[in-house]
Amino acid sequence: MKHDKAVVVFSGGQDSTTCLFWALKNFKEVEVVTFDYGQRHALEIECAKHIAQELNVRHHILNMSLLNQLAPNALTRDDIEINEGEEGELPSTFVPGRNLVFLSFAGILASQIGAKHIVTGVCETDFSGYPDCRDAFVKSLNVTLNLSMDTSFVIHTPLMWINKAETWALADQLGAFDFVRQKTLTCYNGIIADGCGECPACKLRLQGMEAYVQSLR
Ligand SMILES: [Zn+2]
Repeated sequence: MKHDKAVVVFSGGQDSTTCLFWALKNFKEVEVVTFDYGQRHALEIECAKHIAQELNVRHHILNMSLLNQLAPNALTRDDIEINEGEEGELPSTFVPGRNLVFLSFAGILASQIGAKHIVTGVCETDFSGYPDCRDAFVKSLNVTLNLSMDTSFVIHTPLMWINKAETWALADQLGAFDFVRQKTLTCYNGIIADGCGECPACKLRLQGMEAYVQSLR
């Protein structure tokens, strides 16, 4: 792997930034791809850009706003503003199979930039439980991508079986604990680093960090 090139699916959040550090350790060359699909805080894209710049990796931003055409609200009403979900709910823009689409585009990009490896921060232990984030799906898509392009991609999911505390532990092992804590955006309210402290994403992130810090004592 040390001599190979990888592309990391990258949102600028805790998970994908940890994956980026993992990739930088394991591959000779790393590029990242961010999917811009409109409903995210513009700040999230900016945050991803800054991290990519700081770590000196080439950053591809793909406009996936077409997904909004398939969002539940857009299908039923065209006069509803696209909103983030209420606490704990899926955003109104959530589209089933989204990760299928994103990973497929990551595969096309990987083929074009000559990357054999695709790294994604999807996780089965995650509360979301989207079917296209599960291990069996990712393995199945890996086969499909290889058949579709007659290539031999390897999809890596370093976070698949670990919880939030273990994700912090991994960041720490990679020497990136402070970087991930200070530069990434997880908060639904768009506040970088430790966030608003109130939203479900912030609570999950903080609980994980506290559990990890506790385990060191
Ligand atoms: Zn928050």
